[in-house]
Amino acid sequence: MMPSQQPMDRARALRALADETFDLLVIGGGITGAGVAREASLRGFNVALVEQADFASGTSSRSTKLVHGGLRYLKQFDFKLVAEAVRERQLLLSMAPHLVEPTPFLFPVYRGDPDSLLALRAGLTVYDLFARWQAAVPHRMLNGPEVLRREPDLGRVALLGGAVYTDSRTDDGRLTLAVIQSAHNAGATVANYVAAEAFLYASGGRAVGAHLTDALSGDQFDVRASRVLCAAGPWADDLRRMDEPGVHRVLRLTKGVHLTVPKERVQLKHSVVMRSHDDERRMMFAIPHGSYTYLGTTDTDYLGPPQAMVVRPSDVAYILAATNATFPDAHLSEADVASSWVGLRPLVRPRQRTSPSRVSRDYQLFRSESGVVSIGGGKLTAFRAMAEHIVDQLMPGSRSAAARCASLAALPGADAPQPSVEEWNQLARATGVAPVQLREWWHVRLASG
Ligand SMILES: Cc1cc2nc3c(=O)[nH]c(=O)nc-3n(C[C@H](O)[C@H](O)[C@H](O)COP(=O)(O)OP(=O)(O)OC[C@H]3O[C@@H](n4cnc5c(N)ncnc54)[C@H](O)[C@@H]3O)c2cc1C
Repeated sequence: MMPSQQPMDRARALRALADETFDLLVIGGGITGAGVAREASLRGFNVALVEQADFASGTSSRSTKLVHGGLRYLKQFDFKLVAEAVRERQLLLSMAPHLVEPTPFLFPVYRGDPDSLLALRAGLTVYDLFARWQAAVPHRMLNGPEVLRREPDLGRVALLGGAVYTDSRTDDGRLTLAVIQSAHNAGATVANYVAAEAFLYASGGRAVGAHLTDALSGDQFDVRASRVLCAAGPWADDLRRMDEPGVHRVLRLTKGVHLTVPKERVQLKHSVVMRSHDDERRMMFAIPHGSYTYLGTTDTDYLGPPQAMVVRPSDVAYILAATNATFPDAHLSEADVASSWVGLRPLVRPRQRTSPSRVSRDYQLFRSESGVVSIGGGKLTAFRAMAEHIVDQLMPGSRSAAARCASLAALPGADAPQPSVEEWNQLARATGVAPVQLREWWHVRLASG
């Protein structure tokens, strides 16, 4: 049975933060912190989660919005990462059918591309195997004319063929909110616009909480907890340095930009894999979404403070070049760009020198002398599995069959009855709003409770 949905009451949460002693304090209200708060609460722990701005305002609302295995990581032999992500994709389709939907992808292959048709076939077979052949539609290889029948605006010159396969799309910010709501329903105390400004230490030097500032009122107070976890995404090193001044940075931040253009400018029936127009020929995507197509992403090193990142003209030029090369008649220019977003990948710095897009997306935990645990890396898709592993580390022996079952239960909003196609059409006729737009609004309402 789904736990009842409790409205979040920020004033009450602030009082609880100041008055109670928690088993676990989670700093950061992105998907990682939300997942850990949910998992630990479902295991019966008293959990507090604080977020300095709005929930999901960091990387977790700025991704490519795919719930996917990450086909390209197969090439880096990151089989464990891909297998776990594909498994989690399949689970999320049943846990959050209102937020995660299967989507057809088209992967065209041209002469000179880094991956041959044979390599693509092998990769997609492994991908389907990891999903135990339960992907909504297993992959299918296509010849050139079949590719063009499906997406006539793709470039024809040197086209060898391609494949269609299924992955999933989500609304990353809404997914994060649903996980936070689920954590709250399971008993977690959650508050946004509350920043951790310093750690509190017991006389032996162990971290026992944090000094907080309410960004809305300016009030300052302390929260006490037996364990402290920083799920601060791109800010993780800043918090580690707050705990241990001068400690080496463990993150390599890379910037990812997306652009949206009106769907009439890049008309698609599938999400399409594109290649960057430079020597690296990185995988990029063109993804249809309501009235827009979004395009991305870039992957470049970023050295400034996370809150200062911006979209630069070079980012826009890079994405438009890849799109115009993929769809030669589109002739997109800056004037077509309706909006953009930019996020930072909080990747764990690798030992060897390598390009940003080759850095592993796997996550790692870092424990300081005072016992503060920080997370680097991770994927939106694998948040639930990551949370299970992290809570196992923080609270050894706490995993039970009942908690495992609860962790796989549907997220808030999933049990609402879905209108039939005829009902959508009736509503569309009555309101004059396109069914696809109505469905988007419906999903927003379900996710926000
Ligand atoms: C361009 C791009 C595309 C991506 N695409 C995908 C994709 O398609 N699929 C996928 O699975 N993954 C994708 N990812 C990866 C995924 O988005 C991230 O791994 C994930 O969102 C990271 O979540 P997080 O909770 O660790 O970090 P964040 O979402 O950044 O959350 C950290 C939070 O900590 C808060 N915080 C920081 N300091 C403090 C403090 N002192 N006090 C309180 N709060 C604090 C911040 O405000 C922030 O909200 C993508 C990432 C990028 C950048």
